Amino acid sequence: MSNDRTPRRGVLLIVASPSGAGKTSLCRRLMADHGGLELSISMTTRAIRPGEVADRDYHFVSDDEFQALIDADAFLEWAHVHGARYGSPRAPIDKALSEGRDVLFDIDWQGARDVATKCPDDAVRVFILPPSLEELRRRLVTRSQDADAVIERRIANAKGEIQHCGEFDYVFVNDDFDRSYAELAHIYHAERSRRFRNTWVDAYRETLLAEAV
Ligand code: GDP
Ligand code: ADP
Ligand code: 5GP
Repeated sequence: MSNDRTPRRGVLLIVASPSGAGKTSLCRRLMADHGGLELSISMTTRAIRPGEVADRDYHFVSDDEFQALIDADAFLEWAHVHGARYGSPRAPIDKALSEGRDVLFDIDWQGARDVATKCPDDAVRVFILPPSLEELRRRLVTRSQDADAVIERRIANAKGEIQHCGEFDYVFVNDDFDRSYAELAHIYHAERSRRFRNTWVDAYRETLLAEAV
């Protein structure tokens, strides 16, 4: 029998959380462990942080450049978050899906809602909660990549973001990192295995049924 497991319908795996809950760390590890998963690299108008690499973490653009991309309908979704604009470029997502790959999004709840409305069968939404708001603050301070005023703004926004966790398909608390990572990976594996995404099964079944015994 052939080992070819194509064609398949890709997953759009969306991970959202308040800033500091740990979604970027969890997404990085998921990417490192799964070759068939492609990260949607967002465009943003916010300033680059120490330690970030342009075009690896984000495509950093000016307000005018961002507006030109909106006008050209180049985003699957975009939103205002913490005083900047962020958007998911459409072209790399379409390309990955047409090649049967999965796409991982680290986006906010507005973007999650938008992608789920536009791609209801393909989108899988995961929301990550912090153990407490005190721990969220500790993580943002320890990460030490944002100015104090930026951290305060993100903590002030956290409750508004957490209010939306009921819209998500899966929710868990990122307390122990390894346990949380296992939870995210299990969600991804189960979603990948769903029958309707594995369209190759139709041909495979016919080959099995045609086998002489
Ligand atoms: P973090 O929350 O500390 O990871 O901070 P970031 O600056 O990386 O992200 C800021 C916010 O923008 C987060 O809520 C992200 O989920 C959201 N975000 C990032 N990329 C996108 C995107 O492409 N579209 C949308 N709608 N939101 C995004
Ligand atoms: P987000 O992308 O949601 O803003 P990050 O992945 O940048 O969050 O994580 C924020 C900080 O918290 C980072 O310094 C990260 O190393 C740390 N962190 C992430 N998960 C955990 C965890 N389970 N326990 C303790 N610290 C964590
Ligand atoms: P940060 O500025 O800390 O990198 O990101 C702040 C928030 O913006 C995070 O919640 C992040 O997930 C979200 N974000 C990043 N990129 C996008 C995007 O393209 N679209 C949306 N909607 N949110 C994004």
